[in-house]
Amino acid sequence: MSLAGVLAAVLLVVAGCVKPELPAGSARGRDLADDVSGAQVRALYVVPSDGEDHHHDTDGTIARSVGAWNDWLFHETGKRVIIDTHGGEPDIGFARLMVSSSDLASQNVAAIVTLDLQLSAFTAAAPNKLFVVYYDGANPGLCGTANSPEGVVGRVAVVYMQSCKSPIGESEVASAGDLAVLHELFHALGAVSYSCPHSSSNLTNIIQTGELVAAGHVTDDPKDLMWYRAMKDTSGVHIDVAHDDYWGSTNCTDVSKSALLTPTEPGAWFPYPS
Ligand SMILES: [Zn+2]
Repeated sequence: MSLAGVLAAVLLVVAGCVKPELPAGSARGRDLADDVSGAQVRALYVVPSDGEDHHHDTDGTIARSVGAWNDWLFHETGKRVIIDTHGGEPDIGFARLMVSSSDLASQNVAAIVTLDLQLSAFTAAAPNKLFVVYYDGANPGLCGTANSPEGVVGRVAVVYMQSCKSPIGESEVASAGDLAVLHELFHALGAVSYSCPHSSSNLTNIIQTGELVAAGHVTDDPKDLMWYRAMKDTSGVHIDVAHDDYWGSTNCTDVSKSALLTPTEPGAWFPYPS
């Protein structure tokens, strides 16, 4: 390879590590003044470098999805996720990645590591926030993935909008796609931890399923929000009805005590180190 070729290759590698800048001089993507202080969840609309920008941050799609899954959660539990809002409306960020749609898709479950890195301008600027990423691209075979406080320390949950079988943000009533967003966010809140009795991280439970299951789920109830397979529809879906795995549990991580939920319990905790 010629010197010019070597230099070009080095530049390519460096370009792959460059993080996207937040758009300058534009409200789009910038974190506007928060309506409330403290722990909260911010939604981001993210497109790959070569992806079409469908403006789902401003066309109501993501706001509708957030409202739908949060209303569903309130109906089920009497609690809501504290959303980053400005003037009463969700303050939805925007970023265009430096990574192409095919590059990200080829990374499969590891794509979230790239997203963590590429979105670090958002996370570094707001240590009190978790980020739920609506990625406008595909990751074949995956509807979403998330960081977990027990695993990779990040503060990101993601849905790959073009890979989810159910639509997202189309209705004010939560679809299976909208509940998939909440499922991923619950992973980022700490569900389902290793020591929970029906955790898919427990070898005995994995053997009982007779299949390869991803960590962080429950193995005892196909209608649980944190069941290890994809949700086909929303009918009868519920949250840890026996209160022994992740909601109201006493022997493992209890997400109902998260500082990211309101009403907030005494001693509520933020799942990541500040
Ligand atoms: Zn999951």
